[in-house]
Order: sequence, then structure tokens, then C-alpha cells
Amino acid sequence: MLAKFSYQRAVSIKEAAEAAGRPDARILAGGTDLLGCLRDGVFQANRVVSLGGIKDLKGIRSGPRGGWRIGALTTLTEIAEHPQIAESYPVLAQAAASVGTPQLRNQGTIGGNLCQRPRCWYFRGQYHCRRKGGDTCFAEAGQSLYHGIFGASQCYIVHPSDTAPALVALDAKVAIAGRKGTRQVPIGSFFVLPKDSLLKENVLEPGEVITEILLDPPLPGARSTYRKVRERASFDFALAGAAVVLVIAEGTVKTARVVLSGVAPIPWRSAEAEKAIVGKRLDAGAVEAAAEAAVKGAVPMADNGYKVPMVRGIVQETLTVLSA
Ligand SMILES: Cc1cc2nc3c(=O)[nH]c(=O)nc-3n(C[C@H](O)[C@H](O)[C@H](O)COP(=O)(O)OP(=O)(O)OC[C@H]3O[C@@H](n4cnc5c(N)ncnc54)[C@H](O)[C@@H]3O)c2cc1C
Repeated sequence: MLAKFSYQRAVSIKEAAEAAGRPDARILAGGTDLLGCLRDGVFQANRVVSLGGIKDLKGIRSGPRGGWRIGALTTLTEIAEHPQIAESYPVLAQAAASVGTPQLRNQGTIGGNLCQRPRCWYFRGQYHCRRKGGDTCFAEAGQSLYHGIFGASQCYIVHPSDTAPALVALDAKVAIAGRKGTRQVPIGSFFVLPKDSLLKENVLEPGEVITEILLDPPLPGARSTYRKVRERASFDFALAGAAVVLVIAEGTVKTARVVLSGVAPIPWRSAEAEKAIVGKRLDAGAVEAAAEAAVKGAVPMADNGYKVPMVRGIVQETLTVLSA
């Protein structure tokens, strides 16, 4: 049941930051994740601060030197269907298009997609786990089918967002406004591992609002793609996925960013896979070496060992697609 809360529709970023800075407040964008969490008692709010009335947070605008600025309230449908985003950053358009259902993409925003809470069934259920301030991770001795194989310590969540790995692969920046002013954070530093915080998934402080995502102009000759494997053919979260951005020139890979989804508490950049292909021709041997390198260091739990060959296959598949 949805508990009672007061509702405030902010009309400026300043008003939103001030209202959301109260310890009992939560920010509302499209509501597709927040309202489920409140209804299921994952956490509480006495006050919900809607961003919906803040025009400055909406839409996709061209940025400096051919880059783009995506307002935090931009819907996933708008991103997936934006012609220039689809042309210059296919990895992002494909990731946005892979989220949930058309209804969720019409309502869900990019800011909410990055800040959605984990889907771990213990965290979402009636369990006082470590991520809720308890002292037990129930996945350790329980069921770990959908949990992580990288980056865990005391908590084995996987980051649920599809757009986050794409934005990490694109080296985007997150523009943030709060009561003390504004700041920009490279998205690679936006998400936090359980070893740094068990209670939150990103660096936002109370009252801080994501205002925009900033994309640099695409690198000349860049090619990119997002591949997501899910259990059901219809809407579902990633069991595993890969967002890959490559620049290939004169037959060799000049730069590579390989970021895995569904396998770690943050979008998981695979430096080993990148190292295996940079400076090389992207032939079958290099692709296979990168796929093998991508699973180096994986630590499967009791029920999720299938993610290791799955990641290997996804990396092989995405690199093969981009080599053509
Ligand atoms: C059935 C179902 C299937 C789904 N499938 C997928 C999927 O396949 N892939 C995927 O990635 N997601 C999926 N989602 C998760 C989610 O609905 C979407 O990711 C959506 O983009 C969330 O955006 P929202 O605007 O609705 O966020 P909200 O629910 O409004 O907010 C989510 C969280 O982000 C915070 N927040 C929102 N905007 C801001 C901001 N600008 N600044 C700071 N904090 C903010 C809120 O306080 C809240 O904690 C699914 C959800 C459901 C219910």
C-alpha cells in the first residue's frame, strides 16, 4: 500500500534542491521506479518533490562544439527516437530503446534511469539487508540468480540501468545542482561501489538534482552498439549486457570502451577487454582474446555462474558486429 506523503511540484531547480534536501523527502521524475519503491515499502518519504514543472530540465539541445545536452527529464522514448542521437551515439539510442516497455519509456526519464534503485529481490522484499542498514546480505546464503559477478563486497546488487553503461562508454558528464551550487561529474565517477557506500548507488548528496547529461561530440570514425540479454523476450532487466564504443582507423582499433551491464553494482568498465584490442586489427583472434579478458576476475555466486559465458558471448558478439 502507498503510504501518505505530501506532494510538492517545484517550478525551479533551486526550489527542488531546497525541498529535496530535507531528510524525509524524495525526488520524483517519471515515477516508474520511485512509486513502486514507496508502495512496496523499500523506503519511505514524507514529502515527494516533483521535477515535472521545471521546464529547464526537459529536452535535448545541441551543446558546444557539436556535442549534446540531454535534460534530466527527457524521456527514454525521446532519446531513442532522436535522429541525431541515434546517428551520432547509437549505443545510447539502442540502450534507451531496450528499457522496459513503450509505456515505461514514454514515462521514464534519463535522470530517473540513472538513479533508479537496485532490483535485488532481497532489497526490494521485506528483508532488512545491508543496503537498508541491516547487517546481512541475504543473497550470500540465499538465491543469487540475478546478482553480480564483479565489484561486490558485502552486497551483490547489479546496477539495473541500461542507459548508464552506454553513457559510461561515451564518457558523458553528469550536471548536478544542489543547495550549495552546481557541479559536473564524469559519469565514470558518478556511481559508487558497495565498498564506498552500502546505502547509496551514486555520489548525489541529499537535495542534489541531476539537471543534464553532457555528451562530447562523437569521436571521428566512432562506432558503437548496446547489446542486452534478458530472460524474457518482452520487457526485462539485463541479465548481462555490453555497451561498446570503438574508433577504428587504418585497420586498427585506436580507442575502445567496453562497459558491462547487469553484472556489477556499477556499470562495469572492462579495462582488460579494451587492452586486448587497442592497437590491434579487430579480427576473430583479437575478438576472442577480448571476450576472454572481459571475464577475468569474475567471482560468480552459487546460482549465477551462467553470467560468465554469457558475458564472454556478448562481448564477442558486440565486437564482431562493430568489426564489420
Ligand atoms: C516493469 C519495469 C520494467 C523496467 N525495465 C527496465 C529496463 O529494462 N531497463 C532499465 O534501465 N530500467 C527499467 N525499469 C526502471 C525504471 O522504470 C526506468 O529506468 C525509468 O527510466 C526510471 O525513470 P523515472 O523518471 O520514472 O524515475 P523515478 O521513478 O521518478 O525516479 C527514480 C529514482 O531516481 C531519482 N531521481 C529521478 N530523477 C532524478 C534527478 N533528476 N536527479 C536526482 N534524482 C532523481 C528519484 O528520487 C528516484 O529515487 C523498469 C521499471 C519497471 C517498473
